[in-house]
Amino acid sequence: MSKRLPHHFPVELSIVIPLLNEAESLPELTRWINRVLSQHGLTYEVILVDDGSTDSSWSIIEELSDIDTHLRGIRFNRNYGKSAALNVGFKAAEGRVVCTMDADLQDSPEELPELYHMIVEGNYDLVSGWKRKRYDPISKTIPTKLFNGVTRWISGIPLHDFNCGLKAYNQRVVKSIEVYGEMHRYIPVIAKWAGFRNIGEKVVQHQERKYGTTKFGLERFVYGFLDLLSITFVSRFRRRPMHFFGTMGTLSFVLGMLITLWLVGEKVYLALHNIKSRDVTSQPLFFLALVAVVVGMQLFLAGFLAEMIQLNGPRKNQYLIREKLNVI
Ligand code: UDP
Ligand code: MG
Repeated sequence: MSKRLPHHFPVELSIVIPLLNEAESLPELTRWINRVLSQHGLTYEVILVDDGSTDSSWSIIEELSDIDTHLRGIRFNRNYGKSAALNVGFKAAEGRVVCTMDADLQDSPEELPELYHMIVEGNYDLVSGWKRKRYDPISKTIPTKLFNGVTRWISGIPLHDFNCGLKAYNQRVVKSIEVYGEMHRYIPVIAKWAGFRNIGEKVVQHQERKYGTTKFGLERFVYGFLDLLSITFVSRFRRRPMHFFGTMGTLSFVLGMLITLWLVGEKVYLALHNIKSRDVTSQPLFFLALVAVVVGMQLFLAGFLAEMIQLNGPRKNQYLIREKLNVI
């Protein structure tokens, strides 16, 4: 980490910027941020998180921070991904409002003051940018529409552009949530599950990438969808896995038992009436019953194990407490 700033004043706004190989953009980006924010008289810090760049990004950050006291830097030893970069940026941020933006000059710093005011005066927990007019190739814009539709539907959050890099948060939000894996696409969803429901949206300007290339390929949509499933699943059932696995397991087991009873009953009935019948094992239903019983047991067992792990895990009773009154 680069040297700490001697803050003599409370920081009103922190800007967290994850970056991977964005050397060409950095001087222009920091200059632009400074120009906009100095006009608005906000006290601010810019936290540049170098996510394992292999170009000269870090030495440029060091150079820039010699002349710019607003800059702070964190450098990963290797590439961990945008979520990890945001997460450490959030931990380090001191501002009352924390904004994030991409480093590639696609997001405009001109939006920062308005985002800040929406959090402070509009009382939002989180405001997400919406790139209504995008300057990206069509191979990206169409799947993105689909992705946003599905996320809106599953999460119940009416945002148009979940993955927008430009977002603003009340400090309470970023200090309470954990962004891991590839979950940066779902920060509004994570925030909502953590109880921060006051989520706003602001239409923001978007530019074409000026330097370098995109760091995410088409695999983003596959991973993104799987992440959405796991985040929905985990937030619902993390503290009570048995409710999910137990229900599924019981259903499957009961189905298997019913089929077995049917098979046995049928066999007995036919035998009593001296009707010749097929072997039980030569009937498809027999195999269905077998599979259903075994799968049911497995699911039940998985739920049981998950429950035991959950009980012994370090976070078993970690709930977010917002305020306390006469309680230490
Ligand atoms: N980024 C990062 N780590 C990664 C990939 C990307 O910090 O592993 C940064 C990247 O440098 C940029 C931001 O995340 O500042 C968004 O990436 P990009 O512009 O490539 O995504 P796109 O705009 O194409 O969605
Ligand atoms: Mg970009």
